[in-house]
Amino acid sequence: MSKKGRVFIVSGPSGCGKSTVLKEVFKTYKNYHFSVSATTRAPRPGERDGVEYYFITEEKFDEMVEKGEFLEHARYAHCSYGTPRGPVEEMLRQGVDVFMDIELQGARAVKAAMPEAVSIFIAPPSLLVLEERLRGRATDSEEMIRLRLETAKVELEAAGEYDHLVINDDYVRAASEVLAIIHDA
Ligand code: ADP
Ligand code: 5GP
Repeated sequence: MSKKGRVFIVSGPSGCGKSTVLKEVFKTYKNYHFSVSATTRAPRPGERDGVEYYFITEEKFDEMVEKGEFLEHARYAHCSYGTPRGPVEEMLRQGVDVFMDIELQGARAVKAAMPEAVSIFIAPPSLLVLEERLRGRATDSEEMIRLRLETAKVELEAAGEYDHLVINDDYVRAASEVLAIIHDA
């Protein structure tokens, strides 16, 4: 039988640079599938349905939960987020590594269900820098930024639960650390 793919969980406060670091990683590492989550939050300017997220209604989200279509799901900043199960299982079966950009509760759920999953916490150099990045991205309302900064404090306290910690100071350097983790896993 061919080798199964591996699961990489990537967490970290919203705005710390997870997407930026992963984009850099995927320039080099090609045997990957990025798990596109479903969310009830509204798309940011430039976000495309089916690429960054599947943007769905609360009703559709609840229906998917009931049908057991999520590997994990969680509430975050007044919205729902979930990892569709089907594509993850199919990609792993095909021997492709699956990367999930998910928050703390989701990371805990995946790690409990799949202890062999490799979890990586991406941290900003400081809370001040995180705030600057969230504001600099200029995609979120003041309320959204405030909620994300509040949640960041809780998330940073849980960084020790992850297998690896990567500080995103310079994103190219951070990406090279993630590539080393993938290589050694
Ligand atoms: P996340 O996916 O964690 O929510 P993003 O990748 O969207 O975060 O990054 C948030 C903002 O910070 C973006 O505007 C991005 O360009 C910027 N950013 C990401 N990494 C760095 C870095 N190492 N140095 C400076 N700015 C960064
Ligand atoms: P954002 O709204 O800023 O894109 O994401 C908010 C938070 O939700 C981030 O911490 C992101 O990692 C997390 N997230 C995105 N998709 C999922 C998912 O499917 N499940 C869980 N548990 N968290 C997710």
